Amino acid sequence: MQLVSFVDKDGIPMAGVSRNDQVWRLADLGPFPSTLIEFIAAGSEAWNRLRPLVAELVSGGLSLREVELLAPVPRPRKNIICLGWNYAAHARESASRRDALATDAAQLPEHPIVFTKAPTTVTGPHAKVPYDPGLSTEIDWEVELAVIIGKSGRTISQSDALDHVFGYTVLNDLSARDIQRRHKQFFLGKSLDGHCPMGPWIVTADAIPNPQDLRLRTWVNGTIKQDGTTAHQIFSVARTISILSRGMTLEPGDIIATGTPDGVGYARTPPEFLRPGDVVECEIEGIGRIRNQIDAGD
Ligand code: MG
Repeated sequence: MQLVSFVDKDGIPMAGVSRNDQVWRLADLGPFPSTLIEFIAAGSEAWNRLRPLVAELVSGGLSLREVELLAPVPRPRKNIICLGWNYAAHARESASRRDALATDAAQLPEHPIVFTKAPTTVTGPHAKVPYDPGLSTEIDWEVELAVIIGKSGRTISQSDALDHVFGYTVLNDLSARDIQRRHKQFFLGKSLDGHCPMGPWIVTADAIPNPQDLRLRTWVNGTIKQDGTTAHQIFSVARTISILSRGMTLEPGDIIATGTPDGVGYARTPPEFLRPGDVVECEIEGIGRIRNQIDAGD
């Protein structure tokens, strides 16, 4: 299933399901919650009740083009949990920059590097990204597979981990490199408002039996910048969930961004950053594509 959050022509935000380029409100299909975060939290009984209803949908929905898609979880209840340097080639390109963020040289992480993005970063799959040169002139792209937790758990074993996943979506972990460098820590530079585009929908876990075999790509103004596969993740989705949950309860609606492959802007020669008017597109095969323009103030 492809689950969306969207606003209809009356501007009301709601949860829906997308199929064949159409969108149906969950609330029109039965007694389901009106927001996606509540539907996720409702658990497998609600998910299993929806699935056969969706399989029968053919026509009569709203056209996908007529609605404005929001991030699937427009306002997460917690910070987004993010992994740093989870692909070897990206770890190496970052180390080669030899700045304050790459103190470990070419060492691959023995334990995942974990940081977070504030909930206020989250924005829609086609939203404009705010740009303020007074804050940062080094905005960079990072396509990532995002995991949405569906079932609460603590001390989750690696073999049980994928049973706790509700689904997957595409996430662009936009990063202000100058702020990261200045503050010697990821959080502020990763947490500018509107700097976490997500979507266009959550593909439920049953449709992605192997999250370690997904191609993920980024284009800027139509030129490809990143082309990787989750097969190259250092810490798999299952291992990540197991490690994160050792002392911290993961809850329905929690979002984990699983790191980016190589090809980010700041590690290029010369470095490249997003400018007002640029269009950045991130795609994961089997999930979908998000497309965001950097606000040019027009
Ligand atoms: Mg990242």
